[in-house]
Amino acid sequence: TRTPVNVTVTGAAGQIGYALLFRIASGHLLGPDVPVKLRLLEIPQAVKAAEGTAMELDDCAFPLLKGIDIFDNPADGFAGANIALLVGARPRTAGMERGDLLSANGGIFKPQGEAINAGAADDIKVLVVGNPANTNALIAQQHAPDVPAERFTAMTRLDHNRAISQLAQKTGAAVGDIAKLTIWGNHSATQYPDIFHAEIAGKNAAETVNDEAWLADTFIPTVAKRGAAIIEARGASSAASAANAAIDHVHTWVNGTAAGDWTSMGVVSDGSYDVPAGLISSFPVTCKDGKWEIVQGLAVNEFSRGRIDASVRELAEERDAVRELGLI
Ligand code: NDP
Repeated sequence: TRTPVNVTVTGAAGQIGYALLFRIASGHLLGPDVPVKLRLLEIPQAVKAAEGTAMELDDCAFPLLKGIDIFDNPADGFAGANIALLVGARPRTAGMERGDLLSANGGIFKPQGEAINAGAADDIKVLVVGNPANTNALIAQQHAPDVPAERFTAMTRLDHNRAISQLAQKTGAAVGDIAKLTIWGNHSATQYPDIFHAEIAGKNAAETVNDEAWLADTFIPTVAKRGAAIIEARGASSAASAANAAIDHVHTWVNGTAAGDWTSMGVVSDGSYDVPAGLISSFPVTCKDGKWEIVQGLAVNEFSRGRIDASVRELAEERDAVRELGLI
């Protein structure tokens, strides 16, 4: 019998947490034969709600779920964690300046990075979902000097999945026929969904679409502003699709990308594609044996270059702002 994998989820009582935990427990995060133990981290006021979710998890009698523990402090929450999903964050509220948002999140992600450094398992893998995800991941990573930097990642898989869906609808292709799509940069409105290297049933996607106006004026803004469109329609932010993307991100990281395909992940730059080293930026990556690698050698045309640079510039500004605030 396999030793259960310890999965820590922060913000477990939130709406993404509610959509996420049941799928982790039913085997979708790691695979149908991998037992898991859940460690739910919440702020003290939300512990009671997390207990309610844990009662429902019990009531599902999931065969793979070997335990649920609930914590209100990061030291205990991350002790022994093999996988950590950092979902809880301080959302931007009306009138909040960027500096306020970054310092509020620094107060969350700095101690979490320290706790991961002190007590997580040696094979810890971290996914940051809570926004601003790339910069929150950078803050946590900077406070975990003993953990290899490549273990800290930020989620752009929801953008990736949204882009695949939009492209499938435009071309009438099946989503399963679309490969090699890339999200570059920040998980924000400046992100750049790139179809120039994407393939639809083996054929180049940009050539198949052959419509640069659609790319610039419809596709890119639709993907980038999808979150706002869902809030407008649903009256609440996207939660199930965000949880689904978190499941996809970790599943791909652990189990690998398919041959002839890649995925998008926010990862620590090594300077590839002129993204300054150290920034946590989204790239095309392949995964194998639990490790990711940035896809190298892609030609970047002028259309793409300007958009990648703009998003990376925003990431550098966020990094400079958290540096000035003394958060890293
Ligand atoms: P959600 O579960 O809806 O969202 C959680 C975070 O995910 C937010 O930062 C949100 O950012 C982000 N996010 C990323 N992608 C998406 C997406 N596509 N759609 C929506 N959100 C996305 O928030 P709730 O308010 O329901 O729950 C948050 C929970 O976190 C609360 O229970 C709170 O108590 C907890 N929390 C826990 C902390 C801890 O464990 N230390 C610290 C802070 C909060 P955005 O809204 O900006 O898009």
